Amino acid sequence: MKIVWIDLNCSYAHSSLALPALHAQLMHRTGVEWAVVRTTTGEAVGTAVDAVYAHRPDVVAATAWLFTHEQLLHIVARVKALLPQTVVVLGGPEFLGGNEEYLRRHPEVDCVLRGEGEESFARWVEVWNRPEAWSDIAGLCYIYKGVYADQGVARVMDFAALHAPEESPLFVWGKPFVQVETTRGCFNTCAFCVSGVGDPVRTLPIEAIRQRLHGIRERSIRDVRILDRTFNYHPGRAIELLHLFEEFHPHLRFHLEMHPALLPQRVRDVLAAMPHGLLHLEAGIQSLRQEVLDRSLRKGALEQALDGLRFLCSLPNLVTHADLIAGLPDYTLAQIYEDIHTLAGYRAGEIQLESLKLLPGTAMRRDADMLGIRYSPLPPYEVLETDAITSLELQEARRLSRLLDAYYNTAAWQEVTRNLILTEEGFLYRFLCHLTQHNYIDQPMSLERRGELLYLFCREHYPSHVIDVTVAWIEAGMSLKKRPAEGVRTKHVQPSAMWQVDYGEYVDTLRLCFLPTDGEGHGYWFGYDNMTQCPAPIFKASYC
Ligand code: SF4
Repeated sequence: MKIVWIDLNCSYAHSSLALPALHAQLMHRTGVEWAVVRTTTGEAVGTAVDAVYAHRPDVVAATAWLFTHEQLLHIVARVKALLPQTVVVLGGPEFLGGNEEYLRRHPEVDCVLRGEGEESFARWVEVWNRPEAWSDIAGLCYIYKGVYADQGVARVMDFAALHAPEESPLFVWGKPFVQVETTRGCFNTCAFCVSGVGDPVRTLPIEAIRQRLHGIRERSIRDVRILDRTFNYHPGRAIELLHLFEEFHPHLRFHLEMHPALLPQRVRDVLAAMPHGLLHLEAGIQSLRQEVLDRSLRKGALEQALDGLRFLCSLPNLVTHADLIAGLPDYTLAQIYEDIHTLAGYRAGEIQLESLKLLPGTAMRRDADMLGIRYSPLPPYEVLETDAITSLELQEARRLSRLLDAYYNTAAWQEVTRNLILTEEGFLYRFLCHLTQHNYIDQPMSLERRGELLYLFCREHYPSHVIDVTVAWIEAGMSLKKRPAEGVRTKHVQPSAMWQVDYGEYVDTLRLCFLPTDGEGHGYWFGYDNMTQCPAPIFKASYC
């Protein structure tokens, strides 16, 4: 038999882990031939259809995800029209809910797998063309002779016994990062999350993770995303893993998620001693309001979470991202603005503002009416309004998220944006209105364009911050001929006996420029290396 896997992603920077995870369990089985059609949501549906059709497969398989689901259906509907005998099987987190209506609405899909696919898919492949034998495949949902069959949720009980996805030749090594799933399931019960459905927590032994990391290092990969939703639930295991990661410094960098409420002192001590740059943390916080977290069924006391988050953000050796979710029950837009202010005050390395999506199978989708949430019935199932936030306000939150990404979450503009948020009440709202009115916010903007817009806005509304924007502009290596550098003197600049060196070492081969902050000789000097032609200064001094 021949299986064609449709690997549909939002961009080529991403690749589904599902394909190598399933293939790794089956790769030694004889009589099963695999082919992969890789495509993105930006590409024409017809191209992918032609590529699948050329294989004349017996089976077409894929995972559906929020932002790929619609296009995937367009592809498989066309494939099925061309190849009616081909069996279409889909999986992924979107099938955790009731699947009968879906299967009746989409007859081009023969069956869907609910839950963890590795073992069930391997069993299904043995009987793919005999639907009468599908009835003992855990997690499989299908319609046979007009009757809907639902085999519950597939769960891999012996997670450590699975073949690792990297064992499969279909594992894609050419992406910017590699994902390693070290734990499956989650202890928490967040009502909006597909992992919050009470799946048992299963872990890989530390030694198995060590072997996999060695394999990844041998491939010269730099960034590893650890998929472990319970990373610091057991402090002892968290410490063991942190020391394991340390073994791979400086060759690997690890991105992982931590619950900020679960940071006992011994975990804090280990984190504080980690090598600089080894860890990139995502601290799940979602909202800084206890009532919002309670209604979202998220465990963990807010005060403890805030204390943990403050601690993580204060560590100079690691970067901590914090995320908020607009559209959670009882969460207002005014509170979101306040929470961003608080997170900026903690010096969070990034502030992600997501929009809530209600995935099938989650408790929040089931209880949406009771919680006062209205959401799109079509993927990506975005929340449209709640009793606490209107649809217009949710659009504002979406634009606010873009503003944060363009400014606060961009290294060049972070410090100046943080200062504006913390010292100028209403800055975020006013700047967002400005960017929206001039239709900038939904356009892609270069780093330079963003700097120019911030500079012009501050010149008009917050003149005391103009110098800070110019300093950020210069330090980011931007042109001294553009408007944000209009106050900079580049000719005949001499060293000053009064300056204090901020960084670098002055040598007289440096090309100096001077940014005056008043008419009395105060200001900033920047030194450029003429030899390397590096656009950013390598020396800075100030006289304030
Ligand atoms: S949001 Fe995070 S902590 Fe909550 S259930 Fe999902 S994975 Fe677990």
